[in-house]
Amino acid sequence: MALAQAAADEARAAGEVPVGAVLVLGDEVIAKGFNHPIGGHDPSAHAEMAALRAAAQKLENYRLPGCELYVTLEPCLMCAGAIMHARIARVVFGARDPKTGACGSVVDAFANPQLNHHTTVTGGVLEDECGAALRSFFADRRRAAREARAAAALKNESDTDASRSDNSQTS
Ligand code: ZN
Repeated sequence: MALAQAAADEARAAGEVPVGAVLVLGDEVIAKGFNHPIGGHDPSAHAEMAALRAAAQKLENYRLPGCELYVTLEPCLMCAGAIMHARIARVVFGARDPKTGACGSVVDAFANPQLNHHTTVTGGVLEDECGAALRSFFADRRRAAREARAAAALKNESDTDASRSDNSQTS
């Protein structure tokens, strides 16, 4: 999970929502991935998808039986689907996602025995730490947005002042 957190830091450095994932087979790290839908112009570029793609390429197999996926945030429905298609043995996630979590928070894709028999899920591992990285990212983003609005308001004011003084000079 620490490696997944490091991958999440990479996402943050790229200005993306900080989510990271690591795929492990036994003791070996097969692949890592971080969330990058904005930079990748790709709605499917979640951390899990990036790690699954990299692992499948590396192992030259579209199925990844026996692999475990560690991810800092509860997977969404898209990623849960890809995890099932890849036959991942186990998913371990950090923070729960009350908006799009598909491992019990909003829906539980893995609870349906008709959909999947393969993947066991463990949630809430280093939940506080994984959640704190996300909360601080969004707090920073809100602060930046506030500052940008304040700067824009200030600029409008000074522009208005400038046009006023222009007017007074021309009249
Ligand atoms: Zn996802």
